[in-house]
Amino acid sequence: MSGEHLPMEGFPEHAKAALADPIQRQALRAATDLFRERRGSALQRAPAFETWRDEARAIKDDSLLRLDELLLEFERNATAKGVVVHWAEDGSQASQILIALCKERGIDRAAKSKSMTTEEISLNAALAAAGIAAIETDLGEWIIQLAGETPFHIVVPAIHKTRAQIGEILNAKTGVDRGATAKELTEAARVALREEFQKAGVGVSGANFAIAETGSILILENEGNARMCTTLPDLHVAFVGIEKVIPRLADLPVFLRLLPRSGTGQDLTTYQSILTGRKRDDESDGPRELHVVLLDNGRSKMLREEILRQSLACIRCGACLNACPVYQQVGGHAYGSVSPGPIGAVITPQLQDLHKARELPFASSLCGACRDVCPVKIDIPTLLLRLRKDLKEGGPGRAPAARSRLEAAVFAAWAFAMRGPFRYAAATFVARCLDRWLSPVLRRLPPLSRWTRGRTAPRLASRSFRSMWKEGL
Ligand code: SF4
Repeated sequence: MSGEHLPMEGFPEHAKAALADPIQRQALRAATDLFRERRGSALQRAPAFETWRDEARAIKDDSLLRLDELLLEFERNATAKGVVVHWAEDGSQASQILIALCKERGIDRAAKSKSMTTEEISLNAALAAAGIAAIETDLGEWIIQLAGETPFHIVVPAIHKTRAQIGEILNAKTGVDRGATAKELTEAARVALREEFQKAGVGVSGANFAIAETGSILILENEGNARMCTTLPDLHVAFVGIEKVIPRLADLPVFLRLLPRSGTGQDLTTYQSILTGRKRDDESDGPRELHVVLLDNGRSKMLREEILRQSLACIRCGACLNACPVYQQVGGHAYGSVSPGPIGAVITPQLQDLHKARELPFASSLCGACRDVCPVKIDIPTLLLRLRKDLKEGGPGRAPAARSRLEAAVFAAWAFAMRGPFRYAAATFVARCLDRWLSPVLRRLPPLSRWTRGRTAPRLASRSFRSMWKEGL
């Protein structure tokens, strides 16, 4: 069974602990640097990338606006091909659907391919409580499961592990030499996982997209393990967030181009499986039974909110994590959630509890690197600001947080200064004098010192733009 997440509360403390681990920081930095470099090269080979981003976002926006209609279309078309479609309001309902299917068939072992949706609902823990063993078969996810941890990254779960650490973990499980090469470690994992595929009575997966027009689901992966999970056992159960549905098969190619280039810098993902219906009588591969569990778990609530809705457009590529200067330093566990990094800081407070996750929207410098790399142009900094505002205003069912006197005074002064050109000029003159004569001292004293401890405060320009404009400079 995978480990427990750190609590959602306590990001600053978790971040400090992560910063004190030099090996983890080095491994994380090396991996995120590599993915960013690869993304850069992949984009150079794709001159139409910006056009694709616009196209993908338009498809997602359209899909989210008529999700009710598309989901019903998906259900109709999937059912017509022999798929059993289930609707789950929350994680518990979704897990119970699988548990009931297993119990009815006497299944006590599941082979799982990587799925953020099943992580979100803590499916492994629910299965374990019901006496069903769930084995992760994605290599990174398996390493994490063996280590008793939770994923560190949404695409690369073991991104923080060094080869030596992985050698230790796999030595304990398979007996492979601790100092084995990456190739030897992978081979040992491959042999061990083959047995798991054969023993499993059910294959469990997520899906990257669900296509309304055909009732198909699409699974992207690089290792072939998802294909084994979805073809070897007689029963396949796919957990699909309701936001994954898109209208037509013809809408897929743009996502197939964008997702791997953004996340890992690949031109295409190695395996792209489109599953339409269960195995037919004249086919050799595939499950006899295919069940799709459509999961809400708070998504309908997110859908109702016009600005925050765009977070549902996320295609889970992981590019924003790789680009984020905060994630690069503290990694995934500090966020105390299945979705770490910038998009996690937006999604977790919405899907779970805004007040429990209240530190996450502040776990960002708002530099905008996440927005710049997002293949579907999600404006993460704006969403983080919106959540900060909601928290200040109390959020659902809460009283507004009290503003400190200092903060109130600063904003009152700012509002006063901005009300006319003369006031503005006077205020910038005073600010410039303070900056010149008092700034070196003020920056070292509270409250400014709290901010400048970890940052270099910019100096004001020696002359204002207005004065230079007047002189025609
Ligand atoms: S928010 Fe954008 S960049 Fe981040 S994981 Fe989602 S799609 Fe990728």
